[in-house]
Amino acid sequence: MHNKRPAKTPKKTYKSGRMRRLEIRQQRIKKALGNSPVKFASLHKWSAQKAGAKKPHGAIWANPQTMASVSAYPVVPLYYVDKAFTCARCGVEQLWTAKQQKWWYEIAQGELQSTAKHCRPCRQAVRMEKYQAKLTHYTGLIQKHGLEDAAQRLKLSVAELSNWRDKNIV
Ligand SMILES: [Zn+2]
Repeated sequence: MHNKRPAKTPKKTYKSGRMRRLEIRQQRIKKALGNSPVKFASLHKWSAQKAGAKKPHGAIWANPQTMASVSAYPVVPLYYVDKAFTCARCGVEQLWTAKQQKWWYEIAQGELQSTAKHCRPCRQAVRMEKYQAKLTHYTGLIQKHGLEDAAQRLKLSVAELSNWRDKNIV
């Protein structure tokens, strides 16, 4: 932007900043949709392939040393690029950034075959639904069969289930 705009009221500035962020997000999604596919390498050739590879602009090099289940699935990405995906729950177009992917595979130890499925609000909602379902299920079993029998049905120790119950105030 080279054309200077006159000073605005704080409210207007905030609104335009928000619009701008939305715009940038849309552009990143659009760009991610057109991304060339990520190059994969088998683990023992990884260093050689990295040496010969050209990383696209904005991509982040991967580090296979800290990835989970590499021995079970020894084909690893050379780098991460922003990836666009549609939220499986609400259908909103989302961006899984290169940085988030690196975090997922190399720090959170996510499976190499797994990819982002839900946007952030839906992820929270899904987590809450799972928690509610577990609460209903476990509580029902405890009330119906007693702690010991319920633990056996859930393949948990009585101590584990009793701990869980105390934490969740059943
Ligand atoms: Zn969603």
